[in-house]
Amino acid sequence: MSFPLHRPRRLRRTEALRSMVRETRLAATGLIYPMFACPGTNVRAEVSSMPGIYQQSADHIVEECREVAGLGIPAVILFGLPEHKDETGSEASSANGAVQRAIEAIRKAKLDLLVITDVCLCEYTSHGHCGVVKDGEVLNDPTLAHLADAALSHVRAGADMVAPSDMMDGRVGAIRRKLDAAGFQDVAILAYAAKYCSGFYGPFREAAQSAPQFGDRRSYQMDPANAREALKEVALDLEEGADIIMVKPALPYLDIIHRVRERFDVPVAAYNVSGEYAMVKAAAHNGWIDEKRVVLEIMTGIQRAGAEMILTYHAKDVARWLKAC
Ligand SMILES: [Zn+2]
Repeated sequence: MSFPLHRPRRLRRTEALRSMVRETRLAATGLIYPMFACPGTNVRAEVSSMPGIYQQSADHIVEECREVAGLGIPAVILFGLPEHKDETGSEASSANGAVQRAIEAIRKAKLDLLVITDVCLCEYTSHGHCGVVKDGEVLNDPTLAHLADAALSHVRAGADMVAPSDMMDGRVGAIRRKLDAAGFQDVAILAYAAKYCSGFYGPFREAAQSAPQFGDRRSYQMDPANAREALKEVALDLEEGADIIMVKPALPYLDIIHRVRERFDVPVAAYNVSGEYAMVKAAAHNGWIDEKRVVLEIMTGIQRAGAEMILTYHAKDVARWLKAC
């Protein structure tokens, strides 16, 4: 393989040549758009650190979902904001919760859109942790039933898929058993399998009002320094019945996405999180980067690393840009 016999530049001469040999092809069909459902009607409040992203009541969620479906994006993932928070996050499984009402409204509108729901307690608990707390400790096993109840309430409202993000041990199995017992054996689980304890979640906590009121999440989310442990987390979630597994965040963990892709023959998703979005938005706002170019490069990088699905706040822009070119 030596010059001058080999000249890689031959295949880079024109756009037609470059696109013919392109290894990674972005498509809107791999995008999942995250949305924040809040109580009430006619509510639409922009998240200050995430321009273009809103906390919205069910009526506005439906409107935006119509736009999302029209752009060829196949799925949304819903996060909920409760009316009241309490110690155990009981509103997470309320049939009248913001997420449950948003799901029903989307269903009623008969949109061609998969509805995935995030399953966690942190938006709903007064202390902001993802599980039940006792004496300052986040308890694992007592949390599982609450998560399973929340997942079941989403599915009863019409969710197509549930996505547990809490990082408690055994939650995927607990949810699977609960759904199966209720006759929902065909509803898939997208597990946040390798979710790291990351500084990139900052803006999300404003959006979901879910910052922990004491301590941090290091006792349940993964240490950013660990890669082999991610493979163990993925293996455990698959054993418990996960159908799709997710790595979160995406950009600082492209190696994890790649390792998971190499090791497991299941669909892999990656979450391009709020902090990754906010950095791009801030830099673009200041004219420091070309937003479209950078976002498409980020999406390409995440997909090239091995993710078939990308959860991203850029989804609508990406779909629009892909349509135009
Ligand atoms: Zn949580």
